[in-house]
This record gives sequence, structure tokens and C-alpha cells, in this order.
Amino acid sequence: MRVGLIFDDIYLLHDTGWHVESPKRLSQTLQILEEKGVLGKLERITPRAASMEEITLVHQRDYVKRVEAFCKAGGGYLDPDTVASSKSFEVALFAAGGVIAGVDAIQAGKILRAFALVRPPGHHALPDRAMGFCLFNNVAVAARYAVRHLGHRRVLIVDWDYHHGNGTEAVFYEEPEVLYFSTHSALGYPGTGWPRSVGEGPGKGLNINVPLPNTTGDADMRFVFQEILEPVAEEYRPELVLVSAGQDGFRGDPIAGMRLTAAGYGVMARIVREIADRYAGGRLVGVLEGGYDLEGLGTCISAILEAWMAGEAPVAPPEGEVRPEVAAAVAEVKEGQREYWRCFRERSVIL
Ligand SMILES: [Zn+2]
Repeated sequence: MRVGLIFDDIYLLHDTGWHVESPKRLSQTLQILEEKGVLGKLERITPRAASMEEITLVHQRDYVKRVEAFCKAGGGYLDPDTVASSKSFEVALFAAGGVIAGVDAIQAGKILRAFALVRPPGHHALPDRAMGFCLFNNVAVAARYAVRHLGHRRVLIVDWDYHHGNGTEAVFYEEPEVLYFSTHSALGYPGTGWPRSVGEGPGKGLNINVPLPNTTGDADMRFVFQEILEPVAEEYRPELVLVSAGQDGFRGDPIAGMRLTAAGYGVMARIVREIADRYAGGRLVGVLEGGYDLEGLGTCISAILEAWMAGEAPVAPPEGEVRPEVAAAVAEVKEGQREYWRCFRERSVIL
């Protein structure tokens, strides 16, 4: 079964002027996918606008109305980093609706996996507030849609963006139906995402933050995924896997950047695909978040899609040693989650 690509020219109409989060991110990615022979192998999925009812699964109605009025009046700055233009409200509805369209296409059996090449991004957006280039929280809207409308009881969100998805964490912090797993820079915006933030009430243990140094490379990230994400997924058995796929950990990123390469993103993509195949009937949707090196972004997305289209052969592991500070970060996360996960009580902590 083929892999879907959710895209529409409407995503280019969120006009941000000089801003690094620009329409070029998508147009150049498409060009790179074409050059690499990936684009023609993808099943195109037409997005739709999310309805008011769908957006308010996550966002407060007053906030949605406020963004609409702000854009209708010509737009401007919604917060110090977040620009909106006159068309941005409509585009943002299509970004969230695009992810829903991907989830629906998978549910209908049309495709097995999909990548939503959408903007504006979403994972910083709070129920009542735009933040960090994000208007509506696309991945959170789709996750809640899957729970409320499709009856999924366990949705795994893997957020590998360089920045912590504070919005997504906030939405699901006290909820048992969604497990949020995030790797991010310990030093980066917005300053949230600490291992001690494990969730509250029925959501306890279902919020897993892995802050990492900016020196994190491919072998380090593979180690984090294998040591934390894989055993947790085995125990959790997700019914749907969503990825907040921000590629701003790429080593050339102009505003962020760890030491990750496109091959490293390919390995991460392979791991989440294996998790989806093993437990979730293959159901997997990637959702674009950050990534601001135009060439690097397209190359990383190409590597992700190639991993999702490839046969069963395992990819070669990344070379290089795991940094001691990364091993220490992993040990700290395991210790903080020990109470909630059998896998971290049974397995010896590596150090
Ligand atoms: Zn980011």
C-alpha cells in the first residue's frame, strides 16, 4: 500500500514576509522530493479545512474567533514570533484539516501511512494562545479527533522537533488516551519539557520529555529512541502513531540545529514505522513542524518518506558513539518514569 502526501497550494498563502517560517519551506521540499524521484511514488491526498467543531476539540472558541477576526482585519503579530496574514486563518484550518484528512484516509484503508506537508506548524499552540509560529495545534486536533470520532483509545505522539511541543503537552497532560513523547533541545525555546513533567492524574506517566544537548547526533538519537520509545511503545501498544516531524535538529539549521543528518531522520522514521506496524496496524501520520534550512528540510523529509516507502530490510545503523551526556539524560528520564512503566523497572539502566 502506498504512502500518502497531504499538500495543497493553499499552504503557500500563509504569508509571513521575511520570516524564516516561509512558504519556500514547502515549495523547496516538493522540488527536492521531485528531484529524488520520491514525489511520483506518493499518493496525493487533498486536504480540507477543519470545521469549527474539530478545531474546538482543542482550542477555545473565543480564541478561534479572535484569530479569525485578526486575520480578516489584515493580520500582524499574534505574539512576538508569530505572524498571521489575511489568509492565515483559512490556511491554519487547512493545516489541521490536512492532518485529519490523512488520519481519515488511513482509517478508510486508502493508504497505510501519510506525511502532512502543512504550515503553519502547530506544536507550540495552546488552547487559547498562538505561540512560536503556531496558530492551531494540528497534531493535537488530529489526535483528539482520532479519540473522539474514530474511537482510538491509545494515540502515541512522537515529537522529534528541536523544540519542545509545549502546546501538545499542555493539551494532553491530564489525559489517558494520548501518550506524548518528545525529544528536544534542553536549551531551546520555549524552555519547557523537563523530565519531571510526567503528566497529571489519569495522564500520569503519559508525558515523556527527553531534553538533550545541542551536540546530539544520529547515534545519540537512535539510542534515545531504542532505550525509551521502543520499550514504552511495546508496553503502551498504540492504536495510532502521529509524528510531530520538525527537522530543525538538522545540523545546518539556521535558528536551531543539533548534529542530526538526513540519514539520522531516516533511522528515526524507520523506528516509528516499525512501532506503527507492530502495534497500530501500520497507522502512521507525520506532520510537519519546524525545519528552516531549506535544502536540509527537503532532504530530511525525503529520507523520512523513503524509510516509510521502503521494504522490510533494516536500515544501516548510524555510526558513532553515544555521548555520555545523552546516556545520562536517558537514565534520568527512565528514573523519573520508573513508577509508571514496567519496562523501566525490569530493565537495567544503562550507564
Ligand atoms: Zn522547532
